[in-house]
Amino acid sequence: MYNFPISYEPPVYRPPSEGRSLLIQVTIGCSNNKCTYCDMYRSKTYRERRIEEVEEDIRKCAASGLYPDKIFFCDGDALGASFELLEKSLLAVQKYFPDCRRVGVYATAENILGKSDDELKRLRELGLGIAYLGLETGDEKILHMIVKGNTANEMIEASLKLKRAQIKLSTIAMLGVGGQDLSAQHIEGTAKVLSATCPEFFSFLTTFSVPGTPYHKMEERGLIKPLTSKMLLTEMREILSRSSFTLNPVIFRANHVSNQHPLGGVLPRDLKSIIETLDNWIAHTPEGQFPPRPQQM
Ligand code: SF4
Repeated sequence: MYNFPISYEPPVYRPPSEGRSLLIQVTIGCSNNKCTYCDMYRSKTYRERRIEEVEEDIRKCAASGLYPDKIFFCDGDALGASFELLEKSLLAVQKYFPDCRRVGVYATAENILGKSDDELKRLRELGLGIAYLGLETGDEKILHMIVKGNTANEMIEASLKLKRAQIKLSTIAMLGVGGQDLSAQHIEGTAKVLSATCPEFFSFLTTFSVPGTPYHKMEERGLIKPLTSKMLLTEMREILSRSSFTLNPVIFRANHVSNQHPLGGVLPRDLKSIIETLDNWIAHTPEGQFPPRPQQM
């Protein structure tokens, strides 16, 4: 059996599209760690790792013969690390993996706004190619309710700042995050932010409340009513149809658990066929049916 050359501080998460990337922990935990629906890093206290530790991990991976095409800097919002740590970590990647094509990172709007334009450009020059931003929703009230830590305007400002630095923006929104009562404003606000920012990549996640989280408690108390499968599909349809993507093509993916098939395409080019598919699914989805919960929740 192959012995992986480095050990991680668990739990470790990465975006689905970084499934083949080498994971390097630059930070531990999440600097926000307050979003009411999220329990990913509750067991960790946020900290930056020392550059010596990060460089040692990269060196060991290189010494063991790994040659990753892509690297992902963990944990929850590694762009929140100091500019100096990120710069040195990227220099270490260049030194040990000169053929690495791209480094990715999770980011919050706060992380992005906390870096200057020049710092972001420098990180881009050193190989930081993509940042994954959990927008979740473009609606102020829901952002406040889930304690996301940033306003919709800050999400827009941060997204455009990242794009100015030519770091690709991958935005994630959460279907159903406002519950039934706030669904209409979730649609409106999210379409507005997407239209203003036109991320290079966009994907939906479906909201499932995780036991033990404040979000789950709100659901138990009836303050948030989860959406049925039909409502979730309708939310997706409405967000997409009300967004206008004019700045650049958007690579769209949705692995909605109640979809019969994964949905994806390039927007706006494929919008018409995606909407037709969604209309067909909506028409054939019974009222009152909820999507199955993922296994590992
Ligand atoms: S910023 Fe991301 S990782 Fe951190 S608490 Fe919120 S959802 Fe979880």
